[in-house]
Amino acid sequence: MTKAMLLAAGLGTRLRPLTNQVTKCLVPIAGRPLLDYWVEKIIEAGITEALLNTHHLASQVRDYIAQLDKNLQLIEFYEPKLLGSAGTIAANPDFANDVDEIIIIYADNFSDINLAKLLNFHRHHPDPITMLLFHAPNPKACGIAELDAQNRIISFAEKPKQPKTNFANAGIYVIDSKTYREIATMQAFDLGFDVLPKFIGKMKGWVWDGYHTDIGTYKTYLQAQRDAVELTSDKFNQGRPAIFIDRDGTLIESVHYLSKPEQVQLIAGGGEAIKKLRKAGFACILVTNQSPIGQGIITEEDLIEIHNTLSAQLAKYGTQLDGFYHCPAVPQVKDRTIVDNYDRKPGPGMLFKAAKEMQVDLTSSWLIGDMISDILAGYYANCKGLILIETDRGLEGKTTLPVKWNTVPDLKTAVELIVNY
Ligand SMILES: [Mg+2]
Repeated sequence: MTKAMLLAAGLGTRLRPLTNQVTKCLVPIAGRPLLDYWVEKIIEAGITEALLNTHHLASQVRDYIAQLDKNLQLIEFYEPKLLGSAGTIAANPDFANDVDEIIIIYADNFSDINLAKLLNFHRHHPDPITMLLFHAPNPKACGIAELDAQNRIISFAEKPKQPKTNFANAGIYVIDSKTYREIATMQAFDLGFDVLPKFIGKMKGWVWDGYHTDIGTYKTYLQAQRDAVELTSDKFNQGRPAIFIDRDGTLIESVHYLSKPEQVQLIAGGGEAIKKLRKAGFACILVTNQSPIGQGIITEEDLIEIHNTLSAQLAKYGTQLDGFYHCPAVPQVKDRTIVDNYDRKPGPGMLFKAAKEMQVDLTSSWLIGDMISDILAGYYANCKGLILIETDRGLEGKTTLPVKWNTVPDLKTAVELIVNY
């Protein structure tokens, strides 16, 4: 029998401002809380009991646990002051009493690891610890292990200046219960720094050749969004293709803080554009940032009125939108390239939500918008094509991003580009 321990209390300082609102273990990946993927993997491995430590915004994790189904008993261990990974073990010495081994998981990784295979490897060698290893693209920034011919770890160095291998500590360990209790008595702080070096020559490494990434930085976190489209079981790479279309400046004329239905004016050629895209087989889905709601300038009801007017104008052309998604959040930062709220563009949240609800294949979908934030939302959602309608304000000088898009003069040209692709 095995239990799991999820180390999930990290502050996520490198993911601020996003983690000002969401605790790190619950930041969404492809629209689902990161912790959800670990819970799914733990259940798949046949484990029925897990302990999870909390600290920052712990009530969010409590709410998450409350809505879990009963296949996994997830027990919260609240740390008013962060104890460190070995400290959490020291504070829970009895957790391993009635099991053969504990699997310890740093929950700030996103991975397609098969935990059952890892446990199987551990049970077939005599050493008390197995460390999961992955091929690090940046070994100097990781804990690096060196293995002998029997996969025994013969050296281990945190952030080595001259890495001997690229086998990096993946932050997942299987530890026999007796050794777990021994570690608990050490009263150490960090597993990687204080404890594991004592087990050199007494633990095995198991190399995972699949996907594994630490989502602790904005760069890796946002890249994981794109990767998740291919990796997860949520079927984001099958279904129908869609066009995610921005509203203001793209489908309707831009009005500063549009607040009344009579201000809605379909852009020239807008009706024909939507009609043509739908005829070509695309679902046309509006994705719009609506901070005026968050600011109290308009209400949700006002927005429905505004969108009813838009629908009435499209109906004159014998067409319609297939979906409407909006995010009421108020921006925390001015820079339109910073994701400060998962759903607010440049965050990809609205696109993932629409894709899930409307069975959209993101990898055959396009985004059309007039701002860099639109383009980035489409990029993080792994859309096939990104089209920027050229205006004088859209890019705000952000031309050095590692993202490729097409720039066109108007919506009509965008549609031509898509249907002739
Ligand atoms: Mg716009």
